[in-house]
Amino acid sequence: MFIDQAVILVHAGKGGGGHVSFRREKYEPKGGPSGGDGGNGGDVVLMADENINTLLDFRGRPNWSAQDGEPGRAKQQHGSHGKPLVIKVPQGTLVYDHKTGELLCDLKDHAEEFIAAKGGRGGFGNEHFKSSINQAPRTASPGYPGEDRELRMELKLIADVGLVGMPNAGKSTLLAAVTDATPKIADYPFTTLAPQLGIAVLDAARRLVLADIPGLIEGAAAGAGLGHEFLRHIERTRVLVHLLDVLPADGSSPAANYRLIREEIKRYSPLLAEKDELIVLNKLDLLPTEEERRAAVAKLRTELKLGRGEELVAISAATRQGTREMIERLWTMVNRPAETWKGVAAE
Ligand code: GDP
Ligand code: MG
Repeated sequence: MFIDQAVILVHAGKGGGGHVSFRREKYEPKGGPSGGDGGNGGDVVLMADENINTLLDFRGRPNWSAQDGEPGRAKQQHGSHGKPLVIKVPQGTLVYDHKTGELLCDLKDHAEEFIAAKGGRGGFGNEHFKSSINQAPRTASPGYPGEDRELRMELKLIADVGLVGMPNAGKSTLLAAVTDATPKIADYPFTTLAPQLGIAVLDAARRLVLADIPGLIEGAAAGAGLGHEFLRHIERTRVLVHLLDVLPADGSSPAANYRLIREEIKRYSPLLAEKDELIVLNKLDLLPTEEERRAAVAKLRTELKLGRGEELVAISAATRQGTREMIERLWTMVNRPAETWKGVAAE
């Protein structure tokens, strides 16, 4: 299974230094020590947040620092503590020490926290060093450095391939045709927005996890926010299959439906819109002749202004015509070298 990951350096704040000073009051020319302590440096804290969906935001931002503690001051004033830095990460993020490979934590629940780097303690002011032997110490301790750590964060994808498309495009049928899953076909559209997962077995050594995530248009119709729930799942897949009905029952066209879904995705996340995608024209069996089928594919290519090499295959989920080729294409796309991935962070 592919993963979304990011490596960052976290720097906790340094503790503020202790201060050296003596009380100077009117009738007390040789007052006692009064240097305050330095404040502690801020911690770097990772916090799971249900509103964060990917580790993409960490791309190109390797350094994350919490605030230093302030030094102590005269008149027993302690320096203030440095503010902690709270870094929000998606739920389900695994955090590793990048150097040792040790798993540090698994942030599962919303608001769950992990102190990734501890701030340095502040130093003591000279007030602290007063003793029966030394009534006027000139010593203060410096602040301690904060921890530095290199972290690797990892988010498991839910599937290699996510199926998107209008209701009735045939997503559930396709999932049932090429995987071991038994999704409900043409069910009441919004029974559940949980992704339906299935495994397509190509051969003994190769398998793909496919996710049919009902809900973009279905979810938007069922209530605000559900469409986003859908997109959140889609975000955690490696490549998308955009499934199109060659003869939509409502008289619309495959190209129009394609644009509609694309707009919706783009509005939610331009980055997600860049994810590798295979356009799959479905229900080819509805066209009786080979000529009509070829014409339908050519028309879609023209309307979507697709180049020759661009990813488009035509299938029938019902008769399974072309599905084998589609799965092989998906396998190639999913296994492209990580540096060519789009819309998914990779190291
Ligand atoms: P979904 O809403 O995208 O999950 O679509 P479904 O898989 O539920 O399919 C919607 C309708 O289209 C059902 O009646 C399916 O039987 C039908 N359907 C799906 N794929 C094909 C196909 O390849 N050919 C034909 N003729 N019908 C299909
Ligand atoms: Mg369905």
